[in-house]
Amino acid sequence: MRNALVIGNWKMNGETAANHTLVASLVESLEVSPVGSVEVGICPPAVYLHSVGLQLEGSVVSLGAQNLSEHDAGAYTGEVSAAMLRDVGCHMVIVGHSERRSLYYEDDEQVAAKTLAALRAGLKPVLCVGETLAQRESGEALDVVARQLCAAVSGLEADEFERLVVAYEPVWAIGTGKTASPEQAQEVHAHIRTVLVRVAGVAGQNVQLLYGGSVNADNAAELFAKPDIDGGLIGGASLKANDFIAICRAAAVAG
Ligand code: PEP
Repeated sequence: MRNALVIGNWKMNGETAANHTLVASLVESLEVSPVGSVEVGICPPAVYLHSVGLQLEGSVVSLGAQNLSEHDAGAYTGEVSAAMLRDVGCHMVIVGHSERRSLYYEDDEQVAAKTLAALRAGLKPVLCVGETLAQRESGEALDVVARQLCAAVSGLEADEFERLVVAYEPVWAIGTGKTASPEQAQEVHAHIRTVLVRVAGVAGQNVQLLYGGSVNADNAAELFAKPDIDGGLIGGASLKANDFIAICRAAAVAG
C-alpha cells in the first residue's frame, strides 16, 4: 500500500517574509484539518531551507531541496551536497528536473550520480522523468521515460528502491498551463511501474509515482484518481497556500 505524496517545488521564488506567511498557512491548515495518510513536502530555494525547516519543526510537512551536487564534498564552488541538505533538515531532494536537464545540461549520467549521492546521505530522491512535445508527437514518450528511469535506477539495491520517488513530468506540461490528460498520465505511470517491477521486483510496486505538469486545485482530483498516480509534484500552484492545500486534500480524497 503506497501513501499519497504531494510535493511543492517553489523553484526560484520566495523571500523571507512571504515564505513565512505561506508556510504558516500551510502548517495551520493541515493541523486544523489533517489530510490523513497523505505525505506533504515543500522544496524551497536552497538559501531558505534552514529557515523554512525551523518553521516546519513539529509539523507534518517535510522539507526537501530542489537540487544537489553529485559530489560528497570538496572544491565545487556554489554547489550543495546531500550531507548539507540532511544537516539543515531535508528529507528529500528533487533530482533531474527538466529545467535542470534543459537549462543546465544535466544528462542521464549526472542524474544517476545525483540519485546515488542523495541515497548515500539518507535522502529520498524525487527522480524526474518526462518527454518533450516533439518526443511525444513522434511516439517516443514511453521509450524516453524508460530510458531516463533505467539510467538512474538500474544500479540501485533493493532497499534503495524503498526510498525512491519517481515524478513523471512531461516537459510540455511544466509551467505551460497544459496538463496531460489523466489517461495520458496513467499510461506513462503504468509503463514506469512495469519498468520498475522489471528492474526491482516487488520493491518496484512500492515506489511512489507522482505526476507533475500544471497540476492545480481543479484538475488534481481527476489525476490522482488514476491507479498508478500516487500524488503530485506541484510547481506554480505550490506558491499559493489555498491551491496547494486543495491539491493535498484532493490526494486525501483519492487515497
Ligand atoms: C514543476 O516544476 O515540477 C512543475 C510541475 O511545475 P508546474 O506545476 O508549474 O507546471
